[in-house]
Amino acid sequence: MSQTNVITGGTLENTQQCFPSAAALGIDSNLEPTHRPMVYWPDSRLSNKCEDVTIFDEEVEQLVYDLVLAMRTRDGIGLAAPQLGRQLNVIVIEQLWEGKNHPLALINPVVIDVDDSISFTTNEGCLSVPGYYEERSRPYSVVVEYYNPTGNEKVIELQNMNAFVLQHELDHLYGKVFVDGLSKLKQGRILNKVKKTRKFGK
Ligand code: ZN
Repeated sequence: MSQTNVITGGTLENTQQCFPSAAALGIDSNLEPTHRPMVYWPDSRLSNKCEDVTIFDEEVEQLVYDLVLAMRTRDGIGLAAPQLGRQLNVIVIEQLWEGKNHPLALINPVVIDVDDSISFTTNEGCLSVPGYYEERSRPYSVVVEYYNPTGNEKVIELQNMNAFVLQHELDHLYGKVFVDGLSKLKQGRILNKVKKTRKFGK
């Protein structure tokens, strides 16, 4: 999902600035980007339930690399595999703390605890629905089990904005986009916005 209206539509020339923290992500630092076009709502590929990764090989590392690159070149703070056309349970998020971004890749993530006694509210957006934002509240804290790209099992608790982004990306793995529940009338207006935003090269 994207936090701001700025979608830079980055090019491969700025790969070096955008990428990576390969070591922090646990992926090979010698990978090169693969061309994977962004999938835009209401493409039906965003409506499928994704499958678990079963083999942790270079293909998974490559997907993580491409997801982080696509997220960063568009100033997003999270991206899920179906948004690049892969129906796999793989998401990346940009964890924000101490004023810095820390990319995190979660393979086969499963929520094991949610604290919904407090909620976190912000403008929700999505790189697959460019140009549209809507205020939404989600539980403040989530604990999730996942694998890193090399197949090691991990557990992490995320809070506030980081938890919000995680929950948005998890929805993608279930084939849910944040505008799905809105009325047909509203969806029509959003679709016009998406078309307009894409027409101007974003
Ligand atoms: Zn999204």
